[in-house]
Order: sequence, then C-alpha cells, then structure tokens
Amino acid sequence: MDVLTPEQRHYNMSQIHSKDTKPELIVRKWLWCHGYRYRLHRKDLPGKPDIVLPKYNAVIFVHGCFWHRHNCKYASTPATRKDFWEEKLNGNVERDKVNVRKLIELKWRVLVIWECEIKKWDTALEEKIINFLRLKNNPFVQDDSYDDSQEVFHIAAESEIDYVIEDV
Ligand SMILES: [Zn+2]
Repeated sequence: MDVLTPEQRHYNMSQIHSKDTKPELIVRKWLWCHGYRYRLHRKDLPGKPDIVLPKYNAVIFVHGCFWHRHNCKYASTPATRKDFWEEKLNGNVERDKVNVRKLIELKWRVLVIWECEIKKWDTALEEKIINFLRLKNNPFVQDDSYDDSQEVFHIAAESEIDYVIEDV
C-alpha cells in the first residue's frame, strides 16, 4: 500500500538520492576516525564510487537497499507503477555490475556497504571494512549480493594521486 502523497514521495527519494546521504556520512566519519583517508565521488571512475581510498587501491560504494535492490526487507518494489520500477531498479543493478567489472579491470578493489548494514552498525561491519582494507595484497570484490563476488586479480602499482583531506 502506497501511503505517501506524490510530494512526500518525491521528497523522500530526493533525500535518498542526494550525494551526501546520511549512511555514506556515517561510513566516512568512521573511516576518518580510524585514520583512513579518502577521496569522494571520483568522476573519472566507473560508477563514481562514493568513497575512494587510493592508498588501498580500494573503492567503497554505499548502496541504498531500495535503489540497488539489496536482498533485505528494505528493498521492495512500489505497488504503483510496478513495471516502471522493476525496469528502473533492475537497470540500476545491471549498471552496478558493469561498473564493478570495469573497476576490477582497472585494478581497483570494490567493497559494497549496504544501507541496512549501516543502520544496525555493529562490529561485524567494522571487521568487514577493516579486513577489506587490510587485504591489500589479496584483492577481491566484496559484495554479499552477488554470487560471483570473489574475484582475484593483480594489483596495480600504488596510485600517486593526492587525496583530499576532508573534515566530516
Ligand atoms: Zn539491505
């Protein structure tokens, strides 16, 4: 049942879709507090990853469960205009996969953190992030939503790009 007015829905979605969504800020803050330095939304990389850690050859996507169809309770298809939403949301998922593949080809390691994981932030998530960043010499793609998530490839020479130091 769709209980929101179109105006409310538009407001909610513009909030969800804005670049500096709250879940992303939480991740950034945590990274910053733990000494990880990063860049934001690098437009030259496939999918404009939310967080880029050049030192670790790593990118992190913070995905909204609804928009990227996570396998969880927050990802449902709206009851109205179902076909429109199916097509749109499936399109997002396909694009995500293509972007991950391109990033791997460019020797980046990819971590996807889901909004629902951030909502119930716990030590398991912290360990997931720490392990991902620590495994610099054992690159892989980590995303629980894909079956073919384990991908091994050769690591690129460390990038010498300066990264932006940002106060969050
Ligand atoms: Zn989720």
